[in-house]
Amino acid sequence: MSDKGLHVIIVGAGLAGLATAHGLKTNNISHVIVDRESGPRDRNWGVTISWAHPLMKKLLPDDLYANLQSCQPDISMDTKAAGKECILIRDGASGETKIEAHFPGVRRMQIQKTKKAWAVGLNIKYGKKLSNITTTDDGVTAHFEDGTEESGSVIIGADGGTSSVRKWLLGDLATSEVLPYAFMNFPFTLKTEQALWLDKIMNPNVDVATHPKSMYLGLFLLDKPDLSRPETWIFYILVTWPIKTEEDKENSGDRLKRLRDHMDGWADPYKSVVEWVPHDVEIKPDWLRIWHPKPWDNHGGRVTLAGDAAHSMTFHRGQGGNLAIKDADEFVTAMIDVRDGKTTLKEAMDKYDVGVVERGQEVEISKKQALAFHDYANFDNSPVMKMGIKAAGT
Ligand SMILES: Cc1cc2nc3c(=O)[nH]c(=O)nc-3n(C[C@H](O)[C@H](O)[C@H](O)COP(=O)(O)OP(=O)(O)OC[C@H]3O[C@@H](n4cnc5c(N)ncnc54)[C@H](O)[C@@H]3O)c2cc1C
Repeated sequence: MSDKGLHVIIVGAGLAGLATAHGLKTNNISHVIVDRESGPRDRNWGVTISWAHPLMKKLLPDDLYANLQSCQPDISMDTKAAGKECILIRDGASGETKIEAHFPGVRRMQIQKTKKAWAVGLNIKYGKKLSNITTTDDGVTAHFEDGTEESGSVIIGADGGTSSVRKWLLGDLATSEVLPYAFMNFPFTLKTEQALWLDKIMNPNVDVATHPKSMYLGLFLLDKPDLSRPETWIFYILVTWPIKTEEDKENSGDRLKRLRDHMDGWADPYKSVVEWVPHDVEIKPDWLRIWHPKPWDNHGGRVTLAGDAAHSMTFHRGQGGNLAIKDADEFVTAMIDVRDGKTTLKEAMDKYDVGVVERGQEVEISKKQALAFHDYANFDNSPVMKMGIKAAGT
């Protein structure tokens, strides 16, 4: 397929892929999204969208942008009206505030609600697991495990932290690094009074702590399925600590017991909440994976990456989702220029790729932040304390 009939194949219907598709749709650029999933994954979490908020306005159709509140964990929350346009970091031993990093317009978005709402009206083909890519002088073809294929002008690999497109581009260099921390990420409900207490006391965006015993713990709201019934509200905990035992390494065994064994010396709200977590809560195994971008050969401008596929980082500075949306915006701008004949596909992709790799400096910054959360004595020198949650380099 020649560049005259520009057609984009987006691999992955996460934040990066969906934002890209909306941007292309708004600009009448032909595209398709493919995703290996046939339904939503069981994993769910929230993302704090800060500096990328104005880019969503650019990429999304007006009605979707106007309804972003429905993608929030708490659809009734207006952070501006509540005076909570900030994230909160506490001292885990005292519960006292270390910093409230402010960001005007900051919005918490639940990933499952967002994916569902953003998928509406797009051309998405589910059940398509990418297995290979082939290129020719005038096009590129994505091959899927079910034997089908999609051909177009360019593939954007928005297929997440263990990206197959990245693997195709870079081979062994695409392998993620696993950070040496035990990691738990699990949802739970509380009794009515407990849920009301936590909802009132916690920051609605991010309420996390560093602790002198080298531990990070965060409390977050995931959903309020029924606003009037606090016992239905779903919260979740993110917790990390350096791996010390074989059990930590395997991340196996009785996870709630292991977490509780780590809680001496913690203050509220963290202390009480970990005590209140229902004893039969399910905590699945998890790992902190990151990947520092390395320049790739884009095969004549035919194959590129975006979002976690291009730069995957831990959540400790809340930047991955913001970068996914930034990549989408930059890619759409590049495609508009190609369509309008201002540049060739190869030139546009070379420029886009340089930007993506440069934005990947955040992987190292977020890694520093992850390490700093486990280094209480030096926490005040950490990136969040110095930069807040603004974009690197701004
Ligand atoms: C616990 C947690 C907290 C976070 N908090 C924040 C935060 O506060 N702020 C922030 O900005 N970011 C945060 N992030 C990061 C943010 O969620 C991610 O950076 C963002 O969601 C990445 O989106 P993506 O589209 O690149 O990848 P994904 O959402 O992973 O989407 C990739 C898609 O590709 C599909 N796929 C994968 N392989 C294939 C294949 N071979 N073929 C076809 N399809 C495939 C998958 O099914 C998936 O739908 C957090 C992440 C986590 C885990």
